[in-house]
This record gives sequence, C-alpha cells and structure tokens, in this order.
Amino acid sequence: MRILLVEDNRPLSEWLSRTLEQERYGVECAFDGADADYRLQTQTYDLVILDLGLPGMPGEEVLRRLRARNNNVPVLILTASTSLSARVGGLDTGADDYMAKPFDVAELEARIRVLLRRSANHKNPILQCGDLSLNSNTGVFSVAGTVLALTPREHSVLEILLMKLGKTVSKASLAESLFTVSDNASADAIEIYVHRLRKKLEGSDASITTLRGLGYLLQARSSAPGQAFSPRPNPPVGGV
Ligand code: CA
Repeated sequence: MRILLVEDNRPLSEWLSRTLEQERYGVECAFDGADADYRLQTQTYDLVILDLGLPGMPGEEVLRRLRARNNNVPVLILTASTSLSARVGGLDTGADDYMAKPFDVAELEARIRVLLRRSANHKNPILQCGDLSLNSNTGVFSVAGTVLALTPREHSVLEILLMKLGKTVSKASLAESLFTVSDNASADAIEIYVHRLRKKLEGSDASITTLRGLGYLLQARSSAPGQAFSPRPNPPVGGV
C-alpha cells in the first residue's frame, strides 16, 4: 500500500515515514503543497496523510484541488490546529479523517488501516480467500490457522492481491504500490515475489493466477472462475 506523506516538518516526516515503512507501507514524502499537488496529479496512492500548514500552497487547497479532480483517495489530515472549525473545515473539504498533533502513532496506524479497509470496501479486519486469511489489525497471514511466514515484500504483494480479491491486479500497479520512486526496483521483481508466494501457498486453498498481459488474480482453488468472491464453494445443484 502506497502512502503520500505531506508534511513540511522534516524530522517529523522522516520519523513518520520510517515508522510507516516498518509497517510495510511504501511511503513517499512531499514537503510543500505544490509538490504534493503535482504528485497527486501524476501518481496513484492508496492513502494521503496531509498536514494543513504547508509552505506555498496550504493543505486545504491541495485537498480542494484533489477532490475537484474527482480523486477519491482517502485523506487523513494531520495538523497542529486543534480548533473545531479547522476540523470541520477539513472534513467538509473532503478529508476522511482528522488527527491533531501531537498524536499517538498506534492510533494513527489504526486509523490508516480503517481508511484502507473502507476504501477497499472491507469492514471486517479479517480478510479471507479460502483457508488463507489476513488479520489486517495484526498484519498476520495464516493458512488454516497456521501462521504463514512471509518476507515484507511477499507480504505486501499478497496483501494487495487479497485486498483486491477477485480483481485482476496489473504488475505495474503492484510495482507502483510496492516501490517508491527512490527504490529503483524493476517491475520484473514482482514476478519473483509471485513465484515465491505460489510456493508458500502450495497446500492452501488460495492460488495466484497469471492472466497474460493483464496481471495477477488471487482466488480460492475450490471456486470456479467467476466465483472467486465466494468464501465457500456454492452448494452442489442436485438432481443432475
Ligand atoms: Ca506544517
């Protein structure tokens, strides 16, 4: 999951991006409003953390422009202003959530998870595909109740495929979510992660299908094509 962090306080930005990267998010930093506005027009993010007091263009204007482009990326405002009018103003402009500084990082991470789940239309923190499940609160994958050991990159790929269960995810969009521009990593690396994940998922119900030219699709082995959303196989039709 790729996050744009818009924060002009460099020490805070550096600390917060490191903290979020430890939680396996890909984090890009913008330090002023104009840069944030430019990135939001040219890149795709899963979530934006937006400070309001920014040099150049204020955060409110970045947000107003973003929503004027009908971009619905979840936005969490993080600002020193604790006044009710600033809070209401931010939410009215189209922010999804609001946190005042100083903030508790565990609470921020919990709110990020809620926003990401909400934007993927998942209310339940446990995401499932057959006997594969992810507890999005703890970040633990398991197969039939046994913890699945994954590297951070493998975890990120599988998480994205599971969040978009039943939908084809292109290699390019996986790479975009996984790597920040400074990572200098090739999209071909995605193939390696998928290959390793397939090995680790042998013996589980979940499998990753390659759709040539389109991307990857996570689905339960027991379900026929088109039934990938079903948590259980459909009951057999009798009398045939
Ligand atoms: Ca600021």
